[in-house]
Amino acid sequence: MPFNLSLAEREGAGLKRTLPVIERVDGRRLYVDGEQYLNFAGNDYLGLSRAPELLAAAEQAARHYGVGAVASPLVVGHQAIHRELEAELCDWLGLEAVMLFSSGFSANQAVIKALLGKEHSLWQDRLNHASLQEAGLLSPARMVRFGHNDMNALEAKLKPAAGLIVSEGVFSMDGDTAPWPELVRLARVSNNWLMIDDAHGLGVLGREGRGTLNEQGLAPNSVNIFMGTFGKALGVSGAFVGGSRALVEYLHNFGRSYIYSTHLPPPQAAAVLAGVRLVRQADDRRAHLRDLVARFRAGVAGLPLQLLPSATAIQPLVVGEETATLKLADALKQQGLWTGAIRPPTVPKGSARLRITLSAAHTRADVQRLIDALHSAL
Ligand SMILES: *Cc1c(COP(=O)(O)O)cnc(C)c1O
Repeated sequence: MPFNLSLAEREGAGLKRTLPVIERVDGRRLYVDGEQYLNFAGNDYLGLSRAPELLAAAEQAARHYGVGAVASPLVVGHQAIHRELEAELCDWLGLEAVMLFSSGFSANQAVIKALLGKEHSLWQDRLNHASLQEAGLLSPARMVRFGHNDMNALEAKLKPAAGLIVSEGVFSMDGDTAPWPELVRLARVSNNWLMIDDAHGLGVLGREGRGTLNEQGLAPNSVNIFMGTFGKALGVSGAFVGGSRALVEYLHNFGRSYIYSTHLPPPQAAAVLAGVRLVRQADDRRAHLRDLVARFRAGVAGLPLQLLPSATAIQPLVVGEETATLKLADALKQQGLWTGAIRPPTVPKGSARLRITLSAAHTRADVQRLIDALHSAL
C-alpha cells in the first residue's frame, strides 16, 4: 500500500494535516490545551451554536424523542420533528418540498448520483466544494468543469438539454458569490437543470437570511435544486435538498445516501428548527456581521497580502506559499487568534491562504485585535 509514501510526500511539502483537539468552541472563542483563542476559523457566522433557544430545543427534543433517530428515514426514522422542520424550511425559503440529510456531503452525493446517468453532462464551477466534485466523479455523467465564475466559458461548454449545472451561492474558500442571474439565464436558454449549493449564503444573505438567490433578486424556483446546510450559519449540522414535490419523491426513492443512512437525530432537527426561526428574525445579527466585515476589510487594506474580493463572512488573505501561510497562522496563534491555514489540495497550488471567518458573535474589539495582530506579524 503506497499510503505511507503519500503521507511522507505531503509532510515534506508542508501539506500534512493534523487534527487539533478543541476543548470548547463557539462562534467567538475556542480553547486548546487550556489556552483561550479568538475563533476566526469556524463557520458559526451568526453565533447560533450556543444560542439558548437552540440548546433548549435540543434538550426538550432529546427528552421527548431520544437522542437518536433509531432508523433510516424510510424505515421508522422520519419523525414528527423532522416533518416540522421540513415545513418550516419550505415556508422560509418558498420551496414546494424539502428533505433532510445528516450532512451536506451526503446530500450532494444523493442528488448528483441519483439524477444523472451516463447520457448526461454535469457542469461544475472549478471551485465547487469537494462534495460536489466527488459526486460528479462517482456519477456516470460526463463532468465538465468551467473556470471560476466564468460565464463565457460555461456558455461555450454547454450542450442543449443534456444535464445539470451546479454552482455555489458563496464559495467556501474565497467568499465571493456566483452570478446567479446569469446562471439562471444560461440554464434556461440551454434547457438544462440548475442546482445551487448555498451552504455559506443561507442565514447570512438575503431577506430573512434566505440566501444568495434572494440576495440577488431571484425566486427560489429559478433553480431546480436548492441545497443548503445546517452546519454553517445555523450553528448545528445536517442539510436539506429542496425543489419540486416530484424531485423530492424521486430522491426519497433513489437517493442512496438518504435511504441507507440513519436519519438525523431529533435533537439536531429541533435545534435547526429553533435556529431557522431565530435566523428569520436575525437582521440585527446580520447587520452586525456586515459591520465587522467592513471594518476588517478597511483595517487590512494596506497589508502586503491579497485580500480576496468578498463581501461575506469569509475573508481570505492569500499568502501563496504553504509554509509562509503556516508561519503566519502560528504568529497569530501566539497572540491568541485562531485562523484557518488552508493549503492545497483544498485550494489551488500557490494560493495557500488564511481563511478568516467573522461571526456576529465577535465584537468590534475582537476584529480590531485581529487587524492589529496581522499588521504586527507582517
Ligand atoms: C460545508 C459544505 C458542504 C458539506 O456540508 P456538511 O454538512 O459539512 O457535510 C457542502 N457544500 C459546501 C459548499 C460546503 O461549504
